Amino acid sequence: MSASSGLRGTCDVCLHANNEHNTAPCPVPRCKNRWKQCQVTGGCFKRSNNWSRRMCYACKAHPAVKDDLDFGAQGQRDVTRAQRADYKDTGTAGGDTSSGEMSSPAPSSPD
Ligand SMILES: [Zn+2]
Ligand SMILES: [Zn+2]
Repeated sequence: MSASSGLRGTCDVCLHANNEHNTAPCPVPRCKNRWKQCQVTGGCFKRSNNWSRRMCYACKAHPAVKDDLDFGAQGQRDVTRAQRADYKDTGTAGGDTSSGEMSSPAPSSPD
């Protein structure tokens, strides 16, 4: 798949160009959230030894589907307005932090 998504603007989480990102719809039925991954390896995480791709936005409602995403889909779209508003409010987008770790999910009882 192509590394360029064609998305315009910049990512409000990592500040790289949106064109360097790919997004995937959350696979959970009826969920409108999107996952957003930065394709800049070795430069998006602040740690120089981390060559994995950074997940800038995740679906905060369904973090468990992280390994079941399709970033190669046609018709790339940016994350939803609600997700961007939530990031502005909370400072967490649900994805990986710049140091490489997943930001801690909201406390919830496991079941
Ligand atoms: Zn980003
Ligand atoms: Zn979801």
